Amino acid sequence: MKVRNVPGTSNRSCKCVSWIDHWHKFSPGAATICKAKGCLRSDIVGAHVKKCNSPDNSEYIVPFCKFHNKQEGCIEINDFVSLAPANQNFTCR
Ligand SMILES: [Zn+2]
Ligand SMILES: [Zn+2]
Repeated sequence: MKVRNVPGTSNRSCKCVSWIDHWHKFSPGAATICKAKGCLRSDIVGAHVKKCNSPDNSEYIVPFCKFHNKQEGCIEINDFVSLAPANQNFTCR
């Protein structure tokens, strides 16, 4: 699956401690390294993304390192990574 960063989200917050905390609450599994394919960096944050090449226009949170959190264009992510919905109406409202 490919995703792209949603620009202008750095000042957003939710009721969780952080967006990476939000991802941990609303998706199964654990994240210790970046979920971009082949990336092993551990300086992860919860990145706001949308799916590439998909009719689904929803925003999701995915664990990305600080490099991939800033990268433009579509980024291939690891298989079986779950995306946490960024929409607070469905999550931590
Ligand atoms: Zn949250
Ligand atoms: Zn990365």
